[in-house]
Amino acid sequence: MGGYGSGRWNWHDKRITVEDCMQLDAIGLTRKNILRPGRVDSGTIHWSYSLSGKEASSIGFEVNTPALWLRLRNCIDGAERFDYRVTLTTTNLPWGGARWWFICPLIKDDRPCNRRVGKLYRPLDGRYFGCRLCYNLTYQSCNDSHRLDSILARLAASTSIDPVEKASLMDMLTDEYP
Ligand SMILES: [Zn+2]
Repeated sequence: MGGYGSGRWNWHDKRITVEDCMQLDAIGLTRKNILRPGRVDSGTIHWSYSLSGKEASSIGFEVNTPALWLRLRNCIDGAERFDYRVTLTTTNLPWGGARWWFICPLIKDDRPCNRRVGKLYRPLDGRYFGCRLCYNLTYQSCNDSHRLDSILARLAASTSIDPVEKASLMDMLTDEYP
């Protein structure tokens, strides 16, 4: 299903939370130099689950930023679980440089999502990364207003925010409060 480069998949409706998912964060991949202009490379992405921080995992990647794609693959015990590409895009940041984004690869109600998002999520038992809206994700903590307060306080308190940090904060705002 969804062979190499085919790029589109269906998904099954199931109520899950952000905390149940592995997150692919464009800002994080930029920090790790995986997303940067002219990068054609391969390697492994390592991470732990968002809130619990436990059970670190990893998947293989191949990146070609000139061609604007990130290939993700995962083998368990020699059996291939998934292998597909996610389309990338960039926007110019007002303070210079470029911000990387994913194009959500999922199909919902027979329509490609195609949303430009800073984060993709993969349910623990799932194969495909998709956007928060496609997976209809909620937060277990139900503490969104406090999260927003803390982000705004950090923005207000800082007169010289590091550009990557600022992009990360903007991403949190746009991703969590669309
Ligand atoms: Zn989507």
